[in-house]
Amino acid sequence: MDRAFKNFFAGRAGFPRFRKQGRGDSFRYPDSQQFKLDQGNSRIFLPKLGWLHYRNSRKILGEPRNVTVSNRGGKSFISIQTLRDVEKPKSTATTAIGIDVGIARFATMNDGSYIAPLNSFKKHQVALVKYQRRMSHKVKFSNNWKKAKADVQKVHTKITNARKDYLHKISTTLSKNHALVCVENLQVSNMSRSAAGTIEQPGKMVRQKAGLNRSILDQGWGMFRTQLEYKLEWSGGMFLAVPPQNTSRTCPHCDHVSQDNRKTQSQFECVSCGYKNNADVVGAMNILERGYRLLACGDVVLSHSKKQEPAEVSQLAFS
Ligand SMILES: [Zn+2]
Repeated sequence: MDRAFKNFFAGRAGFPRFRKQGRGDSFRYPDSQQFKLDQGNSRIFLPKLGWLHYRNSRKILGEPRNVTVSNRGGKSFISIQTLRDVEKPKSTATTAIGIDVGIARFATMNDGSYIAPLNSFKKHQVALVKYQRRMSHKVKFSNNWKKAKADVQKVHTKITNARKDYLHKISTTLSKNHALVCVENLQVSNMSRSAAGTIEQPGKMVRQKAGLNRSILDQGWGMFRTQLEYKLEWSGGMFLAVPPQNTSRTCPHCDHVSQDNRKTQSQFECVSCGYKNNADVVGAMNILERGYRLLACGDVVLSHSKKQEPAEVSQLAFS
């Protein structure tokens, strides 16, 4: 703990997190000498535990390096990290796409197509409230309380799994069908941060924003972006995160920038040239356009560097 706080005050690490039992319960065998893998019989030898049968999710390729055992929703999982040579793939797709993410539509493409949100949280919310109420009526830490807690945990696991499945399906399709995918470089952590504000500057519309924050977290934009990034690397495509300034206010037809261009949340109408379209589609068109400009400047390296400030990127892109 002393070391954790020293690192925190020296600015090398975040505030130390209390390691509560039941949160991210997992352990790792870091040495490949410790375990034996028998893929033919779907079993693995782990120290102290002996031979364990497992159900394979995929073939284990390469040389196993370490094993992590984790527990989620009452089920145990083994994850095996391996080392192998992989040839750098070449993308077979040739198209480029810009994606605008939002609440009403999870993702809107520059060609006008869109993906509806899943909102897995909302769907399971009724069940969640029911089980949480049951849990609150039990004596804390009693056996019945533990059973009720397991029920709550199961709903949470269902929500997480449904969201993961949904996001993986979309990101796989997009990364397979397009050579270049551009998204906005949104700071999701900033957007979903508490709207309560500070004592000096209390937040406005805290309640409404809390709802929005939950919707954002529910949709898992951050996870979606991460998946797109690594899947495009697998498929040999390219992922670009472009500066988000004014993407929803710029006219794709005449480049006129004005807040008045956006009449309502969903409608875009240029005050200069009269160009009309769905606001999310306009956003996606501008995002793709900015991706092309970034490429033309030859600064593709920026997309993989998360430390880059968006402002610096925009300077490079538009100077
Ligand atoms: Zn215009």
